[in-house]
Amino acid sequence: MSTPLNRREFLVRAAALGAVTAAGGAFLAACSKPALVCTDTTGVDPAAVALRETQAYVDKSTTSGRNCNNCTFYQAAAAGECGGCTLFAGPINPEGYCNGWSRRA
Ligand code: SF4
Repeated sequence: MSTPLNRREFLVRAAALGAVTAAGGAFLAACSKPALVCTDTTGVDPAAVALRETQAYVDKSTTSGRNCNNCTFYQAAAAGECGGCTLFAGPINPEGYCNGWSRRA
């Protein structure tokens, strides 16, 4: 059987709950980083941009099991940064894909 809280107990528990909620929010904010975007071709050679379009590059692969990260032409960068592709210049998302994909050996 529970006993009713007095005012002091209520305030202490409410403060503790607020602290837990704030800590949880801060934790979630720290864990959720924005998705990597590698679509800015500003300053890239127009011929490379045209090839990128011809090859139908997309920043997020929708083809199961195929993405730039497991393509033989992908040039990896530091974690969280856009890589490159030996077929055409410009930023490449490791989660991207294009029609030039070839499985890395
Ligand atoms: Fe990505 Fe296409 Fe380059 Fe392969 S060829 S790394 S799939 S852009």
